Amino acid sequence: MTVRVRIAPSPTGNLHIGTARTAVFNWLFARHTGGTFILRVEDTDLERSKPEYTENIQSGLQWLGLNWDEGPFFQTQRLDHYRQAIQQLLDQGLAYRCYCTSEELEQMREAQKANNQAPRYDNRHRNLSPEQEAAFLAEGRQAVIRFRIDDDRQIVWQDQIRGQMVWQGSDLGGDMVIARTPEKAEDGFGQPLYNLAVVVDDIDMAITHVIRGEDHIANTAKQILLYEALGSAVPTFAHTPLILNQEGKKLSKRDGVTSIDDFRAMGFLPQAIANYMCLLGWTPPDSTQEIFTLAEAAEQFSLERVNKAGAKFDWQKLDWINSQYLHSLPTAELVPLLIPQWQGAGYAIDLEKDGAWLASLAGLIAPSLTRLTDAVAESKLLFGDRLDLQEDGAKQLAVEGAKAVLEAALAFSQSTPELTLDEAKGEINRLTKELGLKKGVVMKSLRAGLMGTVQGPDLLQSWLLLHQKGWATPRLTQAIAQG
Ligand code: GLU
Repeated sequence: MTVRVRIAPSPTGNLHIGTARTAVFNWLFARHTGGTFILRVEDTDLERSKPEYTENIQSGLQWLGLNWDEGPFFQTQRLDHYRQAIQQLLDQGLAYRCYCTSEELEQMREAQKANNQAPRYDNRHRNLSPEQEAAFLAEGRQAVIRFRIDDDRQIVWQDQIRGQMVWQGSDLGGDMVIARTPEKAEDGFGQPLYNLAVVVDDIDMAITHVIRGEDHIANTAKQILLYEALGSAVPTFAHTPLILNQEGKKLSKRDGVTSIDDFRAMGFLPQAIANYMCLLGWTPPDSTQEIFTLAEAAEQFSLERVNKAGAKFDWQKLDWINSQYLHSLPTAELVPLLIPQWQGAGYAIDLEKDGAWLASLAGLIAPSLTRLTDAVAESKLLFGDRLDLQEDGAKQLAVEGAKAVLEAALAFSQSTPELTLDEAKGEINRLTKELGLKKGVVMKSLRAGLMGTVQGPDLLQSWLLLHQKGWATPRLTQAIAQG
């Protein structure tokens, strides 16, 4: 049997972290087994589905490296298939027309509540006579289509993550609606609903394994009955744990992020997010291994090693993983990722002329980056000809000998068109001797005169960068004037 799995997002919002993680598990399973990964867009909710969300979901999956083998298929283009299946169920007597009005359904629920019963449809129109149907039609009522669910039916499946699952038909809320009321009477019935469409698609697409969030467990029980009614084999199910916040509640908008775009804007790399999502619920055979590509994870992936318990989202872990990727990224790959950050902060960059300089700057700050967005703060001191003198910098400039250091450094700077690392080092040693100061005083003063503070990245590298841009001289001049 060739494995066929799918990710079936509804385009009612941007690519959600939960959907992306479900996509990761499906992708890993498909790649591990040499199977096929399919993208199906469940866009039957016409009011809430938008093409821009479909676009966002596809580009988000691609950004994460979750390439699909078939699709995208769109449910709105498959309505005929659903209609055929509904007609088949009607013809077999497994589905029927229910003419209840919303007021009647509401009264039913109120009465159940008053009797301390769980709200459900009481199957009252299951066996209408042709005369009763005619009478409802004569009243101008329209019918939904309901699928029979026998209360005494027990539904059992071996969930690949959760083990044996047992549901009672009576817990499924009564006969379920599979099609809305028709817009035009001659249509016979209206829009097919979610559970029916999913099952028809999964049958047509020969899906062998349905791997999806545990919030679909009740749907699975209903869907198994639909597979049977449509005469089809039931696929294998695996329900993945929810992603939880630190309080153990489902990760939501209130936690500040939901969509993959949010993570992207926060400066995370796709490799890091994909890596972290593997760990959100799955434990590799070597549980100490935390950094791996999707392809590496796929080699070792199995549904057995997916946990049942909810997966707590750990920002520190994600940050750590992201920093590992950032620190090991070749400069040539890092620079294009940092340029939008620098540009976004309004730093003056000339893409044509500054290539080598930006590469040196990226190399200098790379070890301090946790997220791409950190590039702004980490390189703030290195952009521009103006010195932003801070309190600690001003204090250092007041130290005895500091001014002499800056004056000598300025003269040196002006007479040295192209500074090398060795020359810069030599100059610091020379000043230390000549001015009879401690090396620490020389270095701290130079740092304050070049960058306005005594904190920051490597002094020699910073000096070189500022010198290359012609910013060392004006800054030192300003420092001498202010100090
Ligand atoms: N469209 C459903 C969702 O976005 C997924 C359905 C499924 O995987 O069966 O939650």
